[in-house]
Amino acid sequence: MDLKEYITIVEDWPKPGIRFKDITSLMDNGDAYKYATDQIVEYAKQVEADIIVGPEARGFIIGCPVAYALGLGFAPVRKEGKLPREVIRAEYGLEYGKDVLTMHKDAIKPGQRVLITDDLLATGGTIEATINLVEQLGGIVAGCAFLIELTYLDGRDKLEGYEVCTLLQY
Ligand code: 5GP
Repeated sequence: MDLKEYITIVEDWPKPGIRFKDITSLMDNGDAYKYATDQIVEYAKQVEADIIVGPEARGFIIGCPVAYALGLGFAPVRKEGKLPREVIRAEYGLEYGKDVLTMHKDAIKPGQRVLITDDLLATGGTIEATINLVEQLGGIVAGCAFLIELTYLDGRDKLEGYEVCTLLQY
């Protein structure tokens, strides 16, 4: 199956000059969503993941069905102020300014092998902050899996030394 056929390119969204890769047209096709999920499930087995971690919101869409398929837990990474209990934080740079991602302090046990999932790898800032959170908790980043990689933004450079799997490249 050619998953690219299910991605919709939206011109000039959210800003002029951006060609947004809309994954909702893949998600709302059961066969395509299952096909993509199954490939990440195989990758999760290969890297011997104990738990799946994903940043809001599209990291949940990719990671939760993988966790369910393997009977593993899923730990959410969220923007500041969204998680109800004690959190750890990681800052990351945006085009203008900074943002913060958080995780519950007890979300991962030291030594657990973690598969990080997100829909898309662009500059790598989101995933770098997510890795930082996992490692603050003593987790081992077993791999990072994405539906899409924008190779021209060189996000992989930030992931040197980590296992990375991407299903589609632009
Ligand atoms: P990065 O931090 O790697 O620069 O950006 C990746 C994050 O931005 C991901 O969490 C992803 O959801 C979001 N993102 C950036 N560009 C796109 C896009 O074109 N399509 C989708 N679906 N998400 C994007």
